Amino acid sequence: MDKKMLRDIDVSGKKVLVRVDYNVPLDKNGKITDDTRIRATIPTIQYLLKQNAAVVLASHLGRPKGAPAPEFTLLPVAKRLAELLGQKVEFIDECVGSKAQAKAAELKCGQVLLLENLRFHPEEEKNNAEFAGKLAGLAEVYVNDAFGVSHRAHASVEGITKYLPAVAGFLMEKEINFLGQAVSNPAHPYVAIIGGAKVSDKIGVIGNLLKKVDTLIIGGGMANTFIAAQGYAVGKSLVEADKLDLARSLIDDAKKSGVSLLLPTDVVVADKFAADAQAKVVAIDAIPTEWMALDIGPATSKVYAAALGGAKLIVWNGPMGVFEMDAFAKGTEAVANAVADACAVSVVGGGDSIAAIEKVGVQAKISHISTGGGASLELLEGKVLPGIAAINDK
Ligand code: ADP
Ligand code: MG
Repeated sequence: MDKKMLRDIDVSGKKVLVRVDYNVPLDKNGKITDDTRIRATIPTIQYLLKQNAAVVLASHLGRPKGAPAPEFTLLPVAKRLAELLGQKVEFIDECVGSKAQAKAAELKCGQVLLLENLRFHPEEEKNNAEFAGKLAGLAEVYVNDAFGVSHRAHASVEGITKYLPAVAGFLMEKEINFLGQAVSNPAHPYVAIIGGAKVSDKIGVIGNLLKKVDTLIIGGGMANTFIAAQGYAVGKSLVEADKLDLARSLIDDAKKSGVSLLLPTDVVVADKFAADAQAKVVAIDAIPTEWMALDIGPATSKVYAAALGGAKLIVWNGPMGVFEMDAFAKGTEAVANAVADACAVSVVGGGDSIAAIEKVGVQAKISHISTGGGASLELLEGKVLPGIAAINDK
């Protein structure tokens, strides 16, 4: 993945179109509830402004189904971005068309323009060539800083690179470096932690990680399927009955390839799926019929933390339990603290995993928090992401 980065080209005085991922969460009143994704693009924008470039920003927001929808306008994002940059951000209520063209044409160096939601046009997700050409017509250089959509061959991600020189922005560069290293040149001991709700969401990743890691730690709802696959009764736990054979073959694969596959030996069970449920710790061979496993147990947490302690590279995706409820958050907290304390390069991806990291308050001790859940999983699966492949080679 030797891709051309922003610093590899001359952008001074040029008009630069930056694909960003401003798909931010909004509340009922259209207020931005988390501006992390906007903040994440500031280094690229500020660098371009320092180079005297004129910056045209393009993004999607939500799922407007290919037609203009007022609840998905990027106008509030333009306002927030202006506050963060400390300078005016122009906004135009279309992304292609004569108004956008005129606005981009008159944009001067040092100025920033945000275009309206790309997904107001069905052509964006269809990777329509004419639409990509029109977008490209707004600028002289293309920068992809939207890792979160780079697993999608959309017009603003893939098609546009056929018309303009295409490089990776700073955020994209960081994602490529950290995740690329985990895929192609990992430091050892390499420990991966995979959790979350379901095995089926993350089979591809587990399969590929088994070829790379020294230790694979499994937790969360998906661990129940592995517990059941070993022949234990899991009561009313979330379990994927159609994935038992798959879990057994993954256990075999780990054995054959000499990977240490760590599965829970004890769990926290509850009598119902609720914050105020009765809860107790049991060994995996003693899960009561009417109860459900909602977290890994303390003995398991200890083993997992010890394995993480010796790691040089850690990749984490998926919480160890229903961390949204305090009674079932201890396993995730223990793992979060162990990842934070390890003398390792640590990479965390996945919306819920990041929320868990933030709940524990150890963000600052994580080397890289990925901005793309789905995109980071696909990279870890060993897939080539169309948005990254489309960036010019060095
Ligand atoms: P991420 O967003 O980090 O990729 P996932 O979306 O795959 O993670 O999974 C997170 C969800 O899994 C959380 O909502 C959590 O409550 C749920 N979960 C974790 N452990 C269990 C469990 N034992 N039973 C049911 N749900 C679980
Ligand atoms: Mg999730």
